Amino acid sequence: MGNYNPYDNVLAVVENAAKVLGYEKADYEALKYPERELKVSIPVQMDDGSVRVFEGFRVQHSTSRGPAKGGVRFHPNVNQDEVKALAAWMTFKCAVVNIPYGGAKGGVVCDPTTLSEGEMRRITRRFTAMIAPIIGPEQDVPAPDVGTNPKVMGWMMDTYSMLKGHCVPGVVTGKPIEIGGALGRSEATGRGVMITTKNTLAKLGMEMAGTTVVVQGMGNVGSISAKLLHAEGMKVIGVSDVSGGITCKDGLDIPGILEFLKTPKALLKDYDAPGVEHITNDELLTLETTVLVPAALENQIRGDNADKLNCKIIIEAANGPTTVEADEILKKRGILLIPDILANAGGVVVSYFEWVQNIQSMYWTEEDVNRKLKDVMDRAFESVWEISKEKGVEPRIGAYLIAIKRTVDAKKMRGIWP
Ligand code: GLU
Repeated sequence: MGNYNPYDNVLAVVENAAKVLGYEKADYEALKYPERELKVSIPVQMDDGSVRVFEGFRVQHSTSRGPAKGGVRFHPNVNQDEVKALAAWMTFKCAVVNIPYGGAKGGVVCDPTTLSEGEMRRITRRFTAMIAPIIGPEQDVPAPDVGTNPKVMGWMMDTYSMLKGHCVPGVVTGKPIEIGGALGRSEATGRGVMITTKNTLAKLGMEMAGTTVVVQGMGNVGSISAKLLHAEGMKVIGVSDVSGGITCKDGLDIPGILEFLKTPKALLKDYDAPGVEHITNDELLTLETTVLVPAALENQIRGDNADKLNCKIIIEAANGPTTVEADEILKKRGILLIPDILANAGGVVVSYFEWVQNIQSMYWTEEDVNRKLKDVMDRAFESVWEISKEKGVEPRIGAYLIAIKRTVDAKKMRGIWP
């Protein structure tokens, strides 16, 4: 991960976009600070009887446009600055796709790969109880992120509901379908990445069929992105997970790989098929490909490797995979980058649909969800593309121009209290 502070990335991009918008410092100063930060210590009885205390965070960056919204990450590298950055990105992500939310993020410093299901459940329940005073359907709505999943969201929903004394499905999104989850939510981020890739290629007069793509990361976002890009006819020539990467010039058998990865603890380093070559994660990023989809963690494309990339287009499926220094190099090299706050917004868009359904106690079909998701993603893509052309800026700055304007306008209309 290097020594990059992702929150510095946020501040640099906000300054940059605010300058293009001609804003006074007073207009956007508040956006540089999270509204509220909560740090908790989570005592948990481990399976062997010992007690371990885990560190957890919930950061609400903004509630100017609506309740705070954003995932909960369980990962050993979670820290307060990372959670702050991820919370700010949620504010701008919700603004760019124009859904009525602010931004938040949570995290627990733990390694889910070493925890039993019971330990995970106890961490989740105690964490939820400790952040319960500041979450709720009208305050702050958590969701899955790296290391968490629908099962974890089910525990969060149950814990919060038990504390309230009644069922509160709208307190989290990304829940199992049986308890108010939205059809299509688990595939939504990857579907949004696929829609964004299609829209980008269309603008460049390119087809999906036969176009090469490399996907870094095989978590929920990476695996679904690879699956849907492959289903659209793209040639997926490289993928990777924590154990390393694989490549095949003629295109990988993505359905076969996803089937292989279904076995608990399966890793790509053990995958074998004719024509498949094993490579490192660094080598994966430098494969010659039309499209590169970083779908893992932050700071993967940096000042020290951006000039080694061999792609024409980057679609940021992860949050914050590119540093500010790398952005400059990519711009000079003419590599088109579609930013995270647009490209990976499909997840939170369908989270919004889930929350709306929970509040109305009325449920939509998967076709409805996917159609509405496509409408939102298409509209947001068009607006970012247009403003970027109009102002002569990169799509990242274009997306921030829209997001910052919407957030600052909302803040101004509400005024500063008291
Ligand atoms: N964790 C996802 C993200 O980073 C989804 C957040 C949500 O649905 O609230 O966008």
